[in-house]
Amino acid sequence: MKTYADLNTPERILLGPGPSMVHPRVLRAMAHPLLGHLDPEFIHLMKEVQELQRFVFQTENEMTIPVSGTGSAGMEAAVANLLEPGDTIIVGVNGYFGERLCDMAGRYGGKVVRLEKPWGQPVLPAEVEAALKATPAKVVALVMAETSTGALTPMGEMAEIVHRHGALLLMDCVTSLGGIPVKIDEWDIDIAYSGTQKCLSCPPGLSPLTVGPRVRQLLRDRKSKVANWYLDLTMLEHYWGDERTYHHTAPITMNFALREALRLVQEEGLEARFARHKAHAELLWDGLEDMGLQLIVPREYRLPTLTTVAAPEGVNEADVRKRLLEQYNIEIAGGLGAFKGKAWRIGLMGYSSRKENVELLLSAMKKLL
Ligand SMILES: *Cc1c(COP(=O)(O)O)cnc(C)c1O
Repeated sequence: MKTYADLNTPERILLGPGPSMVHPRVLRAMAHPLLGHLDPEFIHLMKEVQELQRFVFQTENEMTIPVSGTGSAGMEAAVANLLEPGDTIIVGVNGYFGERLCDMAGRYGGKVVRLEKPWGQPVLPAEVEAALKATPAKVVALVMAETSTGALTPMGEMAEIVHRHGALLLMDCVTSLGGIPVKIDEWDIDIAYSGTQKCLSCPPGLSPLTVGPRVRQLLRDRKSKVANWYLDLTMLEHYWGDERTYHHTAPITMNFALREALRLVQEEGLEARFARHKAHAELLWDGLEDMGLQLIVPREYRLPTLTTVAAPEGVNEADVRKRLLEQYNIEIAGGLGAFKGKAWRIGLMGYSSRKENVELLLSAMKKLL
């Protein structure tokens, strides 16, 4: 009979695009014994998770829940619930996750209009306005932090434009929530989702999602059933709302983890947390530029949470990554799509965003290059 060794995973320094490192307190929270998902203790915990999510999203939205599944499940929930077959959606495509939004929207019968920008650039408000003038749409979907390129799309002025044209604003904040300011109410975002495994520093498995009043009305007005049973927000609302009607079994342990991860965000304070991400990103950028490396995204639109670095001519980027992992226990990522083989992606998210990690990575890269 084949036997299997005890699980013995190395303790990696995760400086890629996710998952990020998990705080020991979150890991300890996950070791707690299970509760039933309708146990009063768990129901109390669900309420707390919702309250803490409202805090990090900076929203009063009643319907703020963790969707069971990774960030892509939140994305699919947003797309599936907003679109009915034949609806037009304008998608900002300036990287890999914009592409994924287009793919999903097409699968739910959406007429997809691509608002394309070169990889590494943001989508700007004037471009959204021009796209809406050219094609009236029901939904505009934008990726705030494009993890494939490191570009930040400025969200503050988008909603005014989108709403003036009668559309709804869907925002992906997977690589921003908990790392840089995300202001759902102030920015008047209609629906947004994130993921636990990036700047919240929790294992992958839940997707924090928040739904504003315009989308709640849209859900009531839908003519057809949401084509995805598992991600039907109206049914999920009955599970997370006062009725607590069984829909699916919430991943209990992941909710323990998310509660602790969000509690850590609250303890640190949003402003202090954003300042920490920014300071460590600047340390990284200065160090990389001192080594003569070129950062792909201009400073103005560069994400503190994810940095793309051009691999110098004649350097095998995959080989450098392999050696970082083998010799220094550090994980960074290569480029996707247009940046494949040409760039490194370095994430400084949540618990990974620490001075000692930046300094270790910089000295390791200096040696390897
Ligand atoms: C990681 C990511 C996703 C998908 O999240 P998963 O947890 O991998 O499913 C979606 N959008 C963006 C911008 C991401 O960075």
